Amino acid sequence: MRQLTAGDSMDDRNAERMALNEAVFRAANEQLHGDLEAFTGSQSSYSMMCECALIECEQMVEMDEAAYTRVRSKRVWFLVWPEHVVPEIEDIVERSEGFWIVEKVGAAASVARSTAPEERGERA
Ligand SMILES: [Zn+2]
Repeated sequence: MRQLTAGDSMDDRNAERMALNEAVFRAANEQLHGDLEAFTGSQSSYSMMCECALIECEQMVEMDEAAYTRVRSKRVWFLVWPEHVVPEIEDIVERSEGFWIVEKVGAAASVARSTAPEERGERA
């Protein structure tokens, strides 16, 4: 595991910036998911925003309730369109049809934890 030093602090800042972008989309998806449940009830499938680190990404990701609940069960897990992965800040946890789940590592994981929705705890 790398330690933070002056020499690589730029990498960590970069990782944090990307992780913050993903946290913004996670928060937006939580809002969207909550609204859908409040107004239309539980649905068989959800159309959520890709939570990848690419600023310009506008990809929508389709999944069922069980998959959405699963990805939200860990604060360092994010939902992305297949291949929308930045290997420097995340590992691939699951490859499903239409979406992948990634786990943040290093500085990005710290950001993911500190920005996680409070009402959902980490189960494992
Ligand atoms: Zn994306």
